[in-house]
Amino acid sequence: MNLILFGAPGAGKGTQTGSLIDTYHIPAIATGDMLRAQRRAGTALGEQVKSYMDRGELVPDNLMIDIIKERLQKPDAKNGFILDGFPRTVAQAEALDRKLDQLGRRVDAVIYLRVSRQVLIDRLSHRYSCRTCDAVYNFAPQQAGNLPRCSVDGGDLYQRPDDRPEIVAHRIDVFLKHTAPLIDYYTAQHKLENIDGQMSVDDVRADITRRLSALRKGAGSR
Ligand code: AMP
Repeated sequence: MNLILFGAPGAGKGTQTGSLIDTYHIPAIATGDMLRAQRRAGTALGEQVKSYMDRGELVPDNLMIDIIKERLQKPDAKNGFILDGFPRTVAQAEALDRKLDQLGRRVDAVIYLRVSRQVLIDRLSHRYSCRTCDAVYNFAPQQAGNLPRCSVDGGDLYQRPDDRPEIVAHRIDVFLKHTAPLIDYYTAQHKLENIDGQMSVDDVRADITRRLSALRKGAGSR
């Protein structure tokens, strides 16, 4: 399965990725996590993308396309992948289609997690991330002074600079302007699975699983 998890920041892409990895045994490729890892490692690329990320702007397409092309060639992505955070522009989607075409593959489904602006803002204002492994947690802002350690690797929890309210509003606008056109792009390809991302985590997971099993059965019977 070659899957894309699609939605605005805070729509629940990262949360749903975990169960998809377990079900389909394919790697998650989260471009935001990849960029944050570059920053932590202090690479030239990390330095280059820092100001875009902290301002809630998109990193230029040419950089992102190179990163994803290289990542898709790695052996673990041979039998499928779950993309989280890519593509974010029509140019990225077109480049992805071209690359997969060269590899004799294609995107099987795009899972769109639909969430209202108010719910996104509310969710992100409660979101804290591990500084070392990017695991995500939810805490009320008044708990900010007394956060536990990350339960995965014991790392320090913090609020990502781009999860601060003023940047969050901008990231949602950037999503609407540059990324939402992909809804039409993938609808035209009959690949979009439109899911109510405001249901509980378990209900969203069940809906995704149901739709992907239907797609697999349909593919098997063709
Ligand atoms: P995320 O963790 O997916 O919310 O991404 C955090 C930030 O990384 C975004 O706000 C962008 O600055 C940058 N980023 C991640 N993926 C992409 C992408 N596909 N295209 C452009 N910028 C990206």
